[in-house]
Amino acid sequence: MEIRYNEKLKKLPPYLFIEIDRKKKEAIDRGADIISLGVGDPDIPTPEHIIKSMQEAVAKPFNHQYPFGTGLLSYRKAVVDWYKNRFNVDLNTDEVCSLIGSKEGIGHIHLGFINPGDIVLIPEPGYPVYNTGTIFTDGIPYFMPLLEKNGFLPDLSSIPQDVVKKVKLIFINYPNNPTAAVAPKEFYVKLIEFAKKNNIIVAADAAYSEIYYDENDKPSSFLEFPGAKEVGVEFHSLSKTYNMTGWRIGWVCGNKDIVAGIAKVKDNYDSGVFQAIQEAAITALSSSQKCVEDARKIYKERRDVLVEGLKKIGWEVSLPKASFYVWAKVPKGYTSSQVISKLLDDASIVCTPGNGMGKSGEGYVRFALTVGVPRIKEALERISKINW
Ligand SMILES: *Cc1c(COP(=O)(O)O)cnc(C)c1O
Repeated sequence: MEIRYNEKLKKLPPYLFIEIDRKKKEAIDRGADIISLGVGDPDIPTPEHIIKSMQEAVAKPFNHQYPFGTGLLSYRKAVVDWYKNRFNVDLNTDEVCSLIGSKEGIGHIHLGFINPGDIVLIPEPGYPVYNTGTIFTDGIPYFMPLLEKNGFLPDLSSIPQDVVKKVKLIFINYPNNPTAAVAPKEFYVKLIEFAKKNNIIVAADAAYSEIYYDENDKPSSFLEFPGAKEVGVEFHSLSKTYNMTGWRIGWVCGNKDIVAGIAKVKDNYDSGVFQAIQEAAITALSSSQKCVEDARKIYKERRDVLVEGLKKIGWEVSLPKASFYVWAKVPKGYTSSQVISKLLDDASIVCTPGNGMGKSGEGYVRFALTVGVPRIKEALERISKINW
């Protein structure tokens, strides 16, 4: 029998990190000593107290049954308290829904709101999942370039009126992957006004809200701004904050009806998050946040070493205020792909080509700060020896 795939699967670009992983494996098979600055997956283990909490939770028979769809009330309460502490935003537990990692909700929100032909505004370069959900629901992606001259913010006023009329959903993501940009308060005010005026749902992806480098200039939540809860929701994840990428837990919160739409999709698709993981997540959110502070310190040291080192060898790169990415301009005369190949072939370094995350990323590469300082120094040493 000939197996024929859904046409929509064919429309998807190859999942970027799978491609990079494949190349990396090839290089490892050749015996290369690879330094991987590619995928944004923390190398630091999950903190002990969270693991311990999970070990205890896993032994409770109560947790062995199907979880309740939107998540344990105690989990949603922990989210509500965390939000109040961190952003001074008031939420109710019915404005929160647990997710199997925020990727799950980001990929499924479309099913709740997108009808064929609806336009979805998607930042590019950006996280590929915003577009995946759009294609799967026969929505039409409209890509908003994130350009350095605009502070890597989408220029909402440049979107043609006939496009705006058909827009149902807009994704934003600050602190941003891959540009590491942080959105100023004015941006959120303008965004909310734009969404209200045009009846557009805002989906704010805040996966990196806790990876920041200046205690006095923490990234905002979209929900801090007046009117936000009327138009949108925010996605959060424990993955990057607590080094829990493999655990698969996050949440969506904000507008009750939008949250209910996502919950309804999930009721019909999956049965929620393993409750033992929810219990561990409660521990993560409600105990001392020192482990997060420690992680920030680690990333900060790595960031400083990499950025200073790249500058010293002539790369054009600015110091990120948040996220664990460094978004660097490639050496003059090269494309992103050429630089990626050269880094891999001549220096056994894996990183992400800017254009792989959207065409406006051409001319950049993304380094993830997910290896220790000695390896970053080694990477810099190798890069400095490349014959450009
Ligand atoms: C890592 C990441 C996420 C999702 O992480 P989960 O592990 O699914 O919670 C979401 N958005 C962006 C931009 C990310 O980089």
